[in-house]
Amino acid sequence: MDRPVRLRYAPSPTGAQHLGGIRTALYNYLFVKKVGGKLILRIEDTDQTRYVPGAEEYVINSCKWAGIEFDEGVHIGGPHAPYRQSERKDLYRKYADELIEKGHAYYAFDTPEELEAMRNRMMEQGNPSPAYDHITRQYMQNSVALSKDEVEKRIQNGDPYVIRIKMPRNEEIKFHDLIRGWVTFNSSQLDDKVLFKSDGMPTYHLANVVDDYLMEITHVVRGEEWLPSAPTHVMTYKMFGWENVMPSFAHLPLILKPEGNGKLSKRDGDKYGFPLYSLDWKEQNISGLKEKGFLPEAYINFIAFLGWNPGTDQEIFSREELIQAFSFERIGKSGARFDPEKAKWFNQQHIKLKSGEALADLLQPYLEQKILLLTAIIW
Ligand code: GLU
Repeated sequence: MDRPVRLRYAPSPTGAQHLGGIRTALYNYLFVKKVGGKLILRIEDTDQTRYVPGAEEYVINSCKWAGIEFDEGVHIGGPHAPYRQSERKDLYRKYADELIEKGHAYYAFDTPEELEAMRNRMMEQGNPSPAYDHITRQYMQNSVALSKDEVEKRIQNGDPYVIRIKMPRNEEIKFHDLIRGWVTFNSSQLDDKVLFKSDGMPTYHLANVVDDYLMEITHVVRGEEWLPSAPTHVMTYKMFGWENVMPSFAHLPLILKPEGNGKLSKRDGDKYGFPLYSLDWKEQNISGLKEKGFLPEAYINFIAFLGWNPGTDQEIFSREELIQAFSFERIGKSGARFDPEKAKWFNQQHIKLKSGEALADLLQPYLEQKILLLTAIIW
């Protein structure tokens, strides 16, 4: 079935968005522009404990500076508004209920103490990574293990509960990743993830799948750290009977430290005196590449190369050339090494391409600031 191509960038507002986030947004954007689709900005803020005020504006402004434009989203509206999950809160419950009715989810009343006791018990029995799964669920306080009367009584009483997915035992979950090819998991390795929390909010897993379905998303392009969640999402599509409209997945490779030993972290930016962020954010002590004199066209050029390559010797690309050259087939599976010197080189090359006039225009605000400062000192 040929559907209109719709992609989304779906960050959680938990802090300043760094290189990795912008790369995800950029690849979504390049693909959409190449094939003529729509790009949506959705804010995934169901975990209110991790919410950082200002993070949403930071994402919007960083993308704007980099020239990553959206067709629908939290800041511009659109046919699927609202695009902020906390504002969509009321629509998720009925989907959790639907899974309960179909026998694919259940109520779980376990207190934090009971969960802790279960974990300790299993570790004592030699299980280093205890999980709430198809085995453990039989011994816990939930609607699979308890009698119907007991469950009704607890609900009537107002006992707090969560809703968990009932992950089947020993089923193969297989999906095709646009970068990794076929990926297979066995459902017995997966836990019964919480879909709906006792505070009335869905978890990321439920909200993500339901929104991708409702917003008619055709391709999910996101970081490798979400690969372990993908089989739960694929299973959720199946449980709802939405397999025929399940999006294609592309899990992007990690961005590695310059030495290649592990994932790039904020501290690495400090170490190399090279900000890993787009814009300054004073209150969060974040300095950005824009304020350091980076050109947005150099920024997207070097970020595009963190995982993707055109398959030729060409390195300097304009935005339009990136759009034309981009494809998922040319994204590597293994981690992409971040090289601050190379990033500076990209900026140099793009500066060289500018006319004297264009450079003078770019310099003007800096010079004005300096003159003001000098005047203030002299007087
Ligand atoms: N909300 C997730 C994040 O913060 C996005 C995961 C996804 O794109 O499915 O990165």
